[in-house]
Amino acid sequence: MRKLIILLAFVSLGAKAQYWQQKTDYVMDIDMDVKTHQYQGTQKITYQNNSPESLETVYYHLYNNAFQAGSAMDLKIQNALDPNRKVITNVGTKEKPEWVSKISLLTPEEEGYLKIKSLKQDGVTVSFIEEGTVLEVKLNQPIASGASTVLEMEFEGQIPLQVRRSGRDNKEGVALSMTQWYPKLAAYDDEGWHANPYLGAEFYADWGDYEVNITIDKKYTVGGSGYLQNPNEVGRGYETSKKELDKKVRKGKLTWRFKAPNVHDFSWAADKKYEHIRHQVPNGPVVHLLFKKDLENDKKESWKKLPTVMNQLFDFYKERMGAYPYKQYTVVQGGDGGMEYAMCTLITGDRSYRSLVGVVAHELAHTWFQFLLASNETKHPWLDEGFTTYISTLIENQLFDNKEQPFDGSYKSYKLLAKSGKEQPMTTHGDAFDISTGYGISSYSKGSLFLDQLAYIVGDEVLQTVLKSYFKAFAFKHPKPEDFIRIAEKDSGMELDWYLNFWTQTTKTIDYEVFPLLATKITINQRGVIPMPLDVRVTYTDGTHQDFYIPLDIMRGQKKSLSRCGSSKRLEMETANV
Ligand SMILES: [Zn+2]
Repeated sequence: MRKLIILLAFVSLGAKAQYWQQKTDYVMDIDMDVKTHQYQGTQKITYQNNSPESLETVYYHLYNNAFQAGSAMDLKIQNALDPNRKVITNVGTKEKPEWVSKISLLTPEEEGYLKIKSLKQDGVTVSFIEEGTVLEVKLNQPIASGASTVLEMEFEGQIPLQVRRSGRDNKEGVALSMTQWYPKLAAYDDEGWHANPYLGAEFYADWGDYEVNITIDKKYTVGGSGYLQNPNEVGRGYETSKKELDKKVRKGKLTWRFKAPNVHDFSWAADKKYEHIRHQVPNGPVVHLLFKKDLENDKKESWKKLPTVMNQLFDFYKERMGAYPYKQYTVVQGGDGGMEYAMCTLITGDRSYRSLVGVVAHELAHTWFQFLLASNETKHPWLDEGFTTYISTLIENQLFDNKEQPFDGSYKSYKLLAKSGKEQPMTTHGDAFDISTGYGISSYSKGSLFLDQLAYIVGDEVLQTVLKSYFKAFAFKHPKPEDFIRIAEKDSGMELDWYLNFWTQTTKTIDYEVFPLLATKITINQRGVIPMPLDVRVTYTDGTHQDFYIPLDIMRGQKKSLSRCGSSKRLEMETANV
């Protein structure tokens, strides 16, 4: 018996050595001045180094610093061939437009910043260098493999006038959209540090427990990540008892205390005019919906219909991926469109019902990919946006359209890009696409088609199993594209690395033609470089048809269910490469 125990201990150590991730626990106290849009903060990070290396340096992101004239993000926008419309403004006339970067126009009172006032490692002052949106810290003491260190910081922030994602006074008049708002440790993994400057692409971070205390003017209502710890002090629809609230107002301010266990980010928004709906999803989380009281009535009515929609969405994603493991989720009006965060999303709210449901469906779907699987979305934007688009398109189609091919829009966009000559491989870094349309179509449309085409290769039922296995195996583990394709290979019994390679690392296309059509013989020419198994339907002159299936040798297997073309048999015909 004893021998067996020792053996098991070795096995588990062996497994641990192969996979590791850092842990970053945050405690932050923020004092917000809503008049100057400045805030004072203290931050204590307990950083657990689970990597096999000793670390002499750590890096932080200072995202707010991107919103300063002359920043790297500003220059990227100024030099972009087709900048995102959200970040530019017309300073000319309607007839003679002159588009400039909104960041280049920010005044000192409108720009954003994060300034470090002090930083200590285990109680001893440590020096640091600020370089734009990145803070580099040469540690006094290296953090040995397996050890932890405590980093304590005092900082000061200014919320930028909103240009992209975060900021104050968005176009719908939401006062504070607080995303990417605090000094945040960069992620460190088996590929090293990911201290990317903030140029506009999305995010990646290590997991940890967050405790965030926000002290703000008592007239403001707050919504965002985490579980509110003092609902009966702040009220606003969060209160859990009908007794009179125990408000602890100091100097006109209230403190909102949140805890968010095992997350990789903390985001929030605040406004004086939020209406709050609290809704329990059956067998799911409590959902908080916060939207502006001054929205037009029909827009507010759309928000009031969201509880039913949230039930349908949580059910669908649970069935397709797995259960949402937290007890709360918040949808708050804020930001500049729709952006997903841990336990919450910020969306603009002045929308038609269809558009509101669409954006909520998309952002909530992100929960499974951006939040819970948490791949590096700066490096693999398609693994997040594409997969999110895939499952949110399926439920939107179920709710509204009932189209036979729900991805026809994605196919249309992808074909346009593929024919434009401007396509870059999906493996391109999120900040390195030549044109922003290329980034968008590649990540969202071609990314969703990665799964639709995979469903064609392995069969719909197998793909559904693959998504669930992927979530089960890799939730909270930052999977990479190779991790996904291995799961798909195991569940389908096929070799699929060729597909990952062709579809994501090249801009080659799938293109077959039937040629020539002779009475007794059909030849299929492969015109595009990407090979595919073929489902072929032959319709005879008497109106009857027969379905055939030609698997690829390199798949080393075939799909079991041919649901897309009914009963099939292997086609005995010649195929030719041209
Ligand atoms: Zn998205």
